[in-house]
Amino acid sequence: MSFCCGASMIGTKGTLKHIHTHIHNVPLLFCPVCHRVEVHHLVEMEYEILAEYAHGDGAAEIDFDEYVEDRHGAALYENCVSNEDEDPLELVRNQIDISLDLLMAAKALNDTEWENELKKRLSVLSQRRAKLRNKAKSAGSK
Ligand SMILES: [Zn+2]
Repeated sequence: MSFCCGASMIGTKGTLKHIHTHIHNVPLLFCPVCHRVEVHHLVEMEYEILAEYAHGDGAAEIDFDEYVEDRHGAALYENCVSNEDEDPLELVRNQIDISLDLLMAAKALNDTEWENELKKRLSVLSQRRAKLRNKAKSAGSK
C-alpha cells in the first residue's frame, strides 16, 4: 500500500495522457488528501514501456488492459477490497466517499469520460443508499 500525506492512497483505474496518447485503464493510486494521482507502483515499468510504445506507434488511444496481463490481480486493489461482513449501508457510504474523492481527481485530470462514469456511479450508489435506509427503517433496526 502506498501512502501520501499520511493517508493511504486509493487504488483505481483511470485514463492518463502521455504526450498525444490517451492510455485507458491504467491502475492508479489517488491521494484523497492532496488529490495527487500516480501510476500504481506495481505497473510503473509496464506503463512506461506501453506509453513509449504507443507514442512511437502514433496511437491516439490505447487500452492498458489489452496490453498488460493482469498478473498482479487482487494485489493492486487490496486496499479497496471490502469486507463481506461489513454493514451494507456503511459499505455504500464508503463507496460514495471514495467516488467523490475520485471525482475530484477526474476533474483535476480533466478526464470528462471518467468524470461522467463516476457521476453515473454516484447516482446509482445514492439510490442504493436510499433503498438501504428504507429497508433499515422498516426492519426497525439502525
Ligand atoms: Zn497526498
